[in-house]
Amino acid sequence: MSEVHQNISTKLSKNTPQMRTADVVVVGGGIAGKACALGLAQLGLQTIQIAPDLGQAIAAPQGDQWGQRIYAFSPSTQKLLAKLQVWDAIDHSRLQPVRDMRIFGDRGEKQDQLHLSAFEAGTPQLAWIGESNVIEYTLDQASRFQNKLERVSDAVENIQMDSDGATLYLKNGSALRAQLLIAADGANSPIRAELGISMQEESYSQSAVVANWICSNAHLETAYQWFLPGGDIVAMLPLPNKQVSMVWSTSPENAAELLKLDSSAWNEMFSSIAHGAIVAELGRLTLHSTPAAFPLRRIRANRFIGPAENPKALLIGDAAHVMHPLAGQGLNLGLRDVATLLNILSKRESFRSLHDIVLLRRYERQRQGDTSALLWVTDRLKKLFSASSSTEKQLRNWGLGLVNRSHFIKRRLIERALGDIDFE
Ligand SMILES: Cc1cc2nc3c(=O)[nH]c(=O)nc-3n(C[C@H](O)[C@H](O)[C@H](O)COP(=O)(O)OP(=O)(O)OC[C@H]3O[C@@H](n4cnc5c(N)ncnc54)[C@H](O)[C@@H]3O)c2cc1C
Repeated sequence: MSEVHQNISTKLSKNTPQMRTADVVVVGGGIAGKACALGLAQLGLQTIQIAPDLGQAIAAPQGDQWGQRIYAFSPSTQKLLAKLQVWDAIDHSRLQPVRDMRIFGDRGEKQDQLHLSAFEAGTPQLAWIGESNVIEYTLDQASRFQNKLERVSDAVENIQMDSDGATLYLKNGSALRAQLLIAADGANSPIRAELGISMQEESYSQSAVVANWICSNAHLETAYQWFLPGGDIVAMLPLPNKQVSMVWSTSPENAAELLKLDSSAWNEMFSSIAHGAIVAELGRLTLHSTPAAFPLRRIRANRFIGPAENPKALLIGDAAHVMHPLAGQGLNLGLRDVATLLNILSKRESFRSLHDIVLLRRYERQRQGDTSALLWVTDRLKKLFSASSSTEKQLRNWGLGLVNRSHFIKRRLIERALGDIDFE
C-alpha cells in the first residue's frame, strides 16, 4: 500500500458512483473487528466492515470436534458480549468456567505454588475457556440481523486520509468513505503501517504449541500453568467433557520436535517434565486434535490514533498490542479496546463528529494504561521465568509462594485478570 495522503486523490472523487459511504469503516474480521462493527451498528452508526475472510461462513462448532484456537475469556469479555446481546446466544455447553488457577514454579515444590480461587475472590468464576469459533459464529449470527452493518469480503489496497475522514480503495476496484476508520487488522496491521504509526516489536524466540487432550483424571475446573527450567511454560486449560487445551511455549526448535510426537511419546514427555506434576494432576492424556505452533512476539503501537497530523483513525486489538499468551489476555485486552470505544462514542456530545480529536484522544488515553500495565506484567513474568541465574530462580519461586500467602496481592491479581469494564 502507498503512503498516507492528506488530500483526496483525483483517482476517485467523493461523488464517484462506486463510492459507498458510511459513518465508520472497520477493517479486520477477527473477533475484535466483529465485536466492534456489531457494537457500532447497535449504536445506530452506519458501519461497513471489510476483511478478506468475511466471506467464509463460520460453522457452529458441535459434536466431538474441538477447534484449534481455544481462548480464556475474562469476565470483561463476557460483559462486552452481554452488552452486544450475544453472550446468552453462545452455546454454553462448549464453554468451561474456570474456578481455580494453579501456577507452579520450576522447582516443582508445593510451597512455590500460586493458587487463585474464584470462591476465595467471591466471584462465580475466574474465566471461561472456549473455542474462538463459538464466539465468532455467534457474532456472525447477530451481525446478519443488524441492518446498520454491511460486511464486505475484500482486502484494502490503499487508504487516503483528508480533513473529513478516510477513503479506502479495495482490491475489487470499489471504494468506501467514512468519517472514522478503525483498524482491527491484526498484529501485522497494514493500516497501522499506512497511517505511519510506529511500534515497538520484540520476538520472544518462542513458539506456542497448542493441542487438545482428553484427560483420565477430572480437571476440577482448574487452569494449570507450569513454569519449566529454561523458560518453557506449559498451560493446561480445562474444557468441557474431561478435556484440556494445552499451550506450551517453547523454543521454535523444540516446538518443531513436539509437533512430530505421537500420543505415547507425548505421554512420556509429560511424565518427564514439571517433576511429573502434569500426569499427577491430569492422569493419562489422549491427543484430541492436531497440534499446531504459533510464533510469539510482543508488539506495542506507539500511538493508538493516526495519522499524526489530523487523526481520523484508531487501532484496536492486535493491531495495537500483542502479548505473550502466558496470561491468556491478548484478545480480552482487545475487547476492552472495543468496550472503551463504544462507551466513548455512545456518550459523545452532539456537537462532536465521530473523528473529533477530543474523542480520539480520550480513547487513546483510556487504553494506554491498561495496555501498558498488562504488556509490562506479562513481559516481566516471561523474562523472569526465562532467566537462568540462581538468584533470579530463587526469587521467582519464592515470589510465587509469597504472593500466594498474601490475600491482598492475590485479590489485586484477580481484579486485573477479571479486567473490569463499565457500561453506562
Ligand atoms: C497460542 C496463543 C494463545 C492465545 N490465547 C489467548 C487467550 O487465552 N485469551 C486471550 O484473550 N487471547 C489469547 N491469545 C491472543 C489472541 O489470539 C489475539 O489477541 C486475538 O486473536 C486478536 O484478535 P484481533 O481480532 O485483534 O486480530 P486477528 O484475529 O488477527 O484478526 C485480524 C483480521 O484482520 C484481517 N486483515 C488483515 N489484513 C487485512 C487487510 N489488508 N484488509 C482487510 N482485513 C485484513 C484478517 O483477515 C483478520 O480477519 C492467544 C494467542 C496465541 C498466539
